[in-house]
Amino acid sequence: MQLQHSPVTHHCFQHIPFALKRDDLLHPQFSGNKARKLMTLLDTPQETFKTLTSYGSAQANSLYSMAALAYLKGWTLNYYVDHIPSWLQTAPLGNYAQALQLGANIIPTRVTYGMSPADYVGSLPHDDNEKRIPEGGRFPEAQAGVNTLANELLVWIAQQPTQQWVVALPSGTGTTALYLHKALAPHGIKVVTCACVGGREYLQQQWRELGEDSHPLILDSGKKHHFGKLYQEDWQLWQALFSATDIEFDLLYDPIMWQQLLLWWPQQPSHHQKHLLYIHQGGQLGNVSMKARYQRKYASPM
Ligand SMILES: *Cc1c(COP(=O)(O)O)cnc(C)c1O
Repeated sequence: MQLQHSPVTHHCFQHIPFALKRDDLLHPQFSGNKARKLMTLLDTPQETFKTLTSYGSAQANSLYSMAALAYLKGWTLNYYVDHIPSWLQTAPLGNYAQALQLGANIIPTRVTYGMSPADYVGSLPHDDNEKRIPEGGRFPEAQAGVNTLANELLVWIAQQPTQQWVVALPSGTGTTALYLHKALAPHGIKVVTCACVGGREYLQQQWRELGEDSHPLILDSGKKHHFGKLYQEDWQLWQALFSATDIEFDLLYDPIMWQQLLLWWPQQPSHHQKHLLYIHQGGQLGNVSMKARYQRKYASPM
């Protein structure tokens, strides 16, 4: 199975022209940055493992991608969550519903074992047939897959008229931005990101734990943002992005990156000579539950 060469399209948002790497179109089931981060496992011989073990939120994009990976490889996914929200259990949708359809075992730990999913997974005995994936795919094995993305960008950039490029993508764990920076910095390409989870310090800590000292530039307007919370301005920005591009961006991460870019980009000296290349990292299936929550909170014609 070849997962390569997602297209690049051209758009403009609020007077900022940008190229868009459509990693959301890599594969119907296995796409976005989770596919890149998990690509090493996709390329692992089937008989190497029987089980994947991971943990995180019941609505996470990584849950769905790991479920798709396990399904494609004929492995079992045991995915531990703190709890499954009752509204989600009553009417499964989005990543959670699709992961269940792909045969994932989604196991709540808080009530059953009195532990967080991280602690519970840590307490399980190791099994030779099992591969453990840290939350959100934050592991050094992610680098090889992110390198395939970096190489596609370099090939594409080489085909464009010579100009200065800035690559932008929002961060959760920061794994994708970090390895893109590592691969692109030697070519003089700047990578900018923003911290969607836990702020600048958390992100830098994640990067140090992956053993890297050279980091992407973090855009940070100083405004506090709680991951997964609903913000009317995120919802409006996401809708404006959709109107401007006809493309569905992710609702959890992308509005935060664009808020930063709209402030930062026009302030850059000679930004008219620079070119922005934005990475679409997928997440549309996760939007299903986000949209339902937003629509309940801020009734809107969309
Ligand atoms: C997981 C995810 C991110 C964050 O990726 P990291 O490598 O953890 O920084 C960003 N956007 C989307 C759509 C995602 O699914």
